[in-house]
Amino acid sequence: MSELHKFLFDGLPVRGMIVRLTDAWTEILRRRESNNATGAYPLPVRELLGQITAAGVLMQSNIKFNGALILQIFGDGPLKLAVAEVQPDLSLRATATVVGAVAADATLSQLVNVTNHGRCAITLDPLSKFPGQRPYQGVVPLFGDRHEKLEKLSEVLEHYMLQSEQLDTTLVLAASDTVAAGLLIQRMPVKGEGNLAGSMVSRANEDEIGRNEDYNRIATLAASLTQEELLTLDVDTVLRRLFWQEKLVRFAPRTGSDGPRFACNCSSERVGSMIRGLGQDEAASILAERGEIEVGCEFCGKQYRFDAIDAARIFTAPTVQPPGSSATH
Ligand SMILES: [Zn+2]
Repeated sequence: MSELHKFLFDGLPVRGMIVRLTDAWTEILRRRESNNATGAYPLPVRELLGQITAAGVLMQSNIKFNGALILQIFGDGPLKLAVAEVQPDLSLRATATVVGAVAADATLSQLVNVTNHGRCAITLDPLSKFPGQRPYQGVVPLFGDRHEKLEKLSEVLEHYMLQSEQLDTTLVLAASDTVAAGLLIQRMPVKGEGNLAGSMVSRANEDEIGRNEDYNRIATLAASLTQEELLTLDVDTVLRRLFWQEKLVRFAPRTGSDGPRFACNCSSERVGSMIRGLGQDEAASILAERGEIEVGCEFCGKQYRFDAIDAARIFTAPTVQPPGSSATH
């Protein structure tokens, strides 16, 4: 069963998490494989999407935010898009769009950063929005300080954490066809945020970047974990091997119906509003050509079919106007 474990280093400003996705991950792969229109993902895409999904769970669990965390890579190579969406209750879904031939040994840059224009976006989409509120989005490139292409998703996300939160972070990510897993170690923010000393605190945080000896020692231990070990060892063994000299405080793991699990929140209504977005003329021309409009969910593979009567209903149903916006007719 998929599981998420959180822990602290007693008395030190360092926290950590390990996620192991098993059933949640194999369900995503199984659905893709059984989709006759697409077939299974190529191996390098499976590895990257698994890492994105594991990282999405770690990042969602690392913030106090009531909404979806969406981790996306927009590629400039054969992999055009890879996305994982994780809800606050840790239900998750993920998908990727492959547009070209993928070599069996394709690296991260060969997949998504051929011309160094690939990018990674982290979106926080609040569950309940006030009128006009947009999701928050942070975007980072897939290159380092000297424009060198990064070859590990973990490095891309470490950069993001440093830029967006001024927090040192160490990530180890790995995925196979049965497990997608991640280890996150992070320096905790200097306490006192949100009070009058806020600006002093954020400066103190920046001053600590790369300098906290406890964090540096633990980060070095964490970075010694190989992908093979992360995929094959159970969580207790990983923690014992890496941190046997440290004093860990562990929290109850989240697993089962409280843990990371596959779920898709697609619905006929959402697909309907997408068809409405196409416009009535476009919808009518698809109906004339094929007799129905068929839309498959990218995440779970569910097929939605709309015949002429359904389509007419979509376009005549009253659309909900957000408060403050003017009606168009
Ligand atoms: Zn779906």
